[in-house]
Amino acid sequence: PAPVHVIGGGLAGSEATWQIAQAGVPVILHEMRRDEPEEVRTDAHHTAGLAELVCSNSFRSDDWEFNAVGLLHAEMRALDSLIMASGDANQVPAGGALAVDRIGFSDAVTARLEAHPLVTIVREEIAGIPPEDWDNVIVATGPLTSPALADAILKATGEESLSFFDAIAPIIHADSIDFDVAWRQSRYDKEGPGGDKAAYVNCPMDKAQYEAFIDALLDGPKADFKEWENVPYFDGCLPIEVMAERGRETLRHGPMKPVGLTNQHNPTVKPYAIVQLRQDNALGTLFNMVGFQTKLKYGAQTDVFRMIPGLENAQFARLGGLHRNTFLNSPRLLDKQMRLKALPRLRFAGQVTGVEGYVESAAMGLLTGRLAAAQALGRDLAPPPPETAMGALVEHITGGHLEGSKFQPMNINYGLLPPLEAPKVDEDGKRIHPKERGRAKKRLQSIRAMDALKAWRDAAA
Ligand code: FAD
Repeated sequence: PAPVHVIGGGLAGSEATWQIAQAGVPVILHEMRRDEPEEVRTDAHHTAGLAELVCSNSFRSDDWEFNAVGLLHAEMRALDSLIMASGDANQVPAGGALAVDRIGFSDAVTARLEAHPLVTIVREEIAGIPPEDWDNVIVATGPLTSPALADAILKATGEESLSFFDAIAPIIHADSIDFDVAWRQSRYDKEGPGGDKAAYVNCPMDKAQYEAFIDALLDGPKADFKEWENVPYFDGCLPIEVMAERGRETLRHGPMKPVGLTNQHNPTVKPYAIVQLRQDNALGTLFNMVGFQTKLKYGAQTDVFRMIPGLENAQFARLGGLHRNTFLNSPRLLDKQMRLKALPRLRFAGQVTGVEGYVESAAMGLLTGRLAAAQALGRDLAPPPPETAMGALVEHITGGHLEGSKFQPMNINYGLLPPLEAPKVDEDGKRIHPKERGRAKKRLQSIRAMDALKAWRDAAA
């Protein structure tokens, strides 16, 4: 078969290249970073090594039964992942997490790809839409996609923007919200799609709670940003603590305004301020905090946001943050094969598709590698089902989020997998504690995922 071209030798591109070559299809990997004739890097990469980890050296939890990223590890291992094999071979002690020696890891990935007879590595930037005779291409250029390529993709997709300085708001697991305090209602009972008047979750505050919350926001430690992240804010998307700095009442007249809502647990008392959460995924398992984009440090975020009545025990699927990120509006632009609808010879993989994290990026590289190889061999291959962690990520990228809501990059988490009922009583008929039930549910989701993944793999073989 004709070669597949992979652009970008990061986490996603390296894994994709491996999968294609292992399927018996020749592959040409184009990576712009190099040492010679002159040194080329990105703003975050320090070496010319493939699959360089730009920041932490952790692949996060390796617990496949109770942790969604651990499950993703297991799925990838079951699919002959180069990233996982190289990570496993270069582990450093990190408790239940999989952390790696970053140089050893990157060297291992580079060496295995260089040694593969079907892999050719070319050190060059692809500075525009690839030549027309490249009919099977994977673009895996990451959050720091070179500006020339990013501009070309912009033009090809007709989008206004591709690169964002994300101010992202935290996302909370719906089942960790206390509905004895919070209630569901849309402002002024405004009807949404399908006649829904209760799209939002509302958390009420009295005056003392509001004042204490503002103090905590103003006092909380803020994350520092590198120079290249030093960008003006969009005025419509200010971090919550920046808004609070403009005046103690600003939030009460902005995202926390207490109008058009009635506390269903206490209808006669008007709240002084209200925090709203909006459904974030089609399954209704995740809610984002409306207007709460923040650059508070992670530890401070959990402390400060758990001061909000109803969120005392909130579990966060993602914390807020502000950083540069280049990603596609994938639900609109990509088909289920991860191809650009406007230019289907281009497939996208990694962070640029709107997943977040090393492992998630590599997982999407693995999948697109398999899809591109199948295409080169004239075989039909659908992505794995949404019960798998990998399938759930594809679902998130290509349309699992709610119509009309702003697409945001996401780490893998159980809220992206279809929900499942865990038994309420154990084998002896004794009631299982809700916390234990939560764990049991994760385990059942993980087992279901691995079964579905292996069935998908074996059917494709
Ligand atoms: P990358 O690994 O960045 O790979 C993209 C590759 O494409 C690069 O090698 C680049 O040189 C190359 N490239 C770009 N444009 C072109 C072009 N036009 N032609 C040829 N080659 C090109 N995730 C975590 O899990 N943990 C963290 O601690 C973490 N820290 C991060 C810190 C920063 C500053 C950033 C920006 C992101 C961080 N991420 C982190 C998020 C993300 O998981 C990583 O960026 C991850 O590396 C993404 O994988 P990728 O393959 O999509 O992109």
